[in-house]
Amino acid sequence: MNVTPLQSIASLLIRRVFKWVILCVVAISGLQAWLNYRAIEHNFNMTVNDVAHAHLPLLSVAIWDIEPQTIQKQIKLILKNTSIAYVVIRANTGQEFIGGDASRTPNGEHIMFDIPSPIDAAKPVGTAEFVVDRSMLKNELWRSLIIVVLGVLVLSIFIFLAVAAILRRDLERPMRQLADFVKNLQANKISTRLELELEPGHVYNEIDLVVDGFHTMQSSIEKHIANQDALVSERTRQLETAMQTLKQLSITDGLTGCYNRLLFNERMPAEIQRAVRYGRDLCVVFCDIDFFKNVNDQYGHAVGDKVLVSFAQSLEKELRAEVDWVVRYGGEEFMIILPETGLKAAIDAATRIREQVELMAISLADGYSLHITASFGVAELRAGDTVETLVHRADQWLYFSKSHGRNQVQPRDDRDDRDDRDDRNDQRIVPEIHPATLSEL
Ligand code: GH3
Ligand code: MG
Ligand code: MG
Repeated sequence: MNVTPLQSIASLLIRRVFKWVILCVVAISGLQAWLNYRAIEHNFNMTVNDVAHAHLPLLSVAIWDIEPQTIQKQIKLILKNTSIAYVVIRANTGQEFIGGDASRTPNGEHIMFDIPSPIDAAKPVGTAEFVVDRSMLKNELWRSLIIVVLGVLVLSIFIFLAVAAILRRDLERPMRQLADFVKNLQANKISTRLELELEPGHVYNEIDLVVDGFHTMQSSIEKHIANQDALVSERTRQLETAMQTLKQLSITDGLTGCYNRLLFNERMPAEIQRAVRYGRDLCVVFCDIDFFKNVNDQYGHAVGDKVLVSFAQSLEKELRAEVDWVVRYGGEEFMIILPETGLKAAIDAATRIREQVELMAISLADGYSLHITASFGVAELRAGDTVETLVHRADQWLYFSKSHGRNQVQPRDDRDDRDDRDDRNDQRIVPEIHPATLSEL
């Protein structure tokens, strides 16, 4: 992933301000220097003229009176002005008076003045030639330029530093705090409050607007998350209820409300394991309604269903709640599981159930009631048994009951339950078609 290098806004502004400061320094200094140059040159010219006009009358008198010493004295006085490098006074009589530094003349500017006559100003008595040294003017100009540039530069640097400090304090720091906060913000810390460390004298500005906007957004996200949480909890609760219902439906027989084969297959191995581990008894009773097909055939499927429901209820009645459990194993076949029950107790329980079934009257719509019987096969858990071997033994005893006249519990006695009982099939009696009995209520 390409990471764009970060450029702080404050630094960017500072750099831009710096460029403008340099530009301003150059522009202001140039303008100031040009104005200074004009002023200095004007002053320079004024000074030379002033000097000339101050001394010309005296020179005029001195030439008229032919006083060379006075003329030389005037020349000395004129040369006191350092801008004037060299002075030549020429009288109309041909005399020439010189003063100053001749070496400075090549670069100098020659300015000529007529020396008026003391009695008639219109008639000059001679000329005064001033050689003006402009290098002094240049030096003055440079000096003034440097002062201007330094002044503007120092002022600009102060302003620049002040702007930079203000930008860093009032813009960069809060922006950096804001950026760090947003960068480190995580979904599970959305409620962490954004608080900026503000400098003294802080005034409410655009950054505060952003912070306020952020607070508003945080609160609305929090509310949204809370709503979503509540929704998710509600949905989870509904889902759990639905799952429980589904689970219950998946392990329950829809008609009788007994457990189904799915649950039997799931739970039975654990039931056997528990009995084996703790050395507890465990019995199963396989029961099957006798001649149930006849019920369907004679009274219809709906009555058959009613019989199944009544039969299942009568089974439950004789069993211990929360301990024994009943499974609808097939169409009209049920399996009763009796944990911590020995064979004798299981035979007794099955016998009570059989009697109960025998006594049961299932009322029909036309005022009659129907009586049914059932056959039972009991098996006790033995060492090495699996679900299949245990069920198989119970099934064999059920078959034995069926083949020995139905409406009975087998084995009759706990001593009869032997593995080597091979005579069951031999003794099988082909059942006669025995219709369900009908009695008037
Ligand atoms: P036996 O005494 O030998 O057990 O004879 P039976 O008639 O009870 O046994 P058979 O296996 O011949 O018939 C069982 C019948 O049970 C056949 C089937 O139509 C019926 N049956 C299976 N499930 C249901 C059900 O859910 N409702 C109804 N009404 N009948 C069912
Ligand atoms: Mg049957
Ligand atoms: Mg059957």
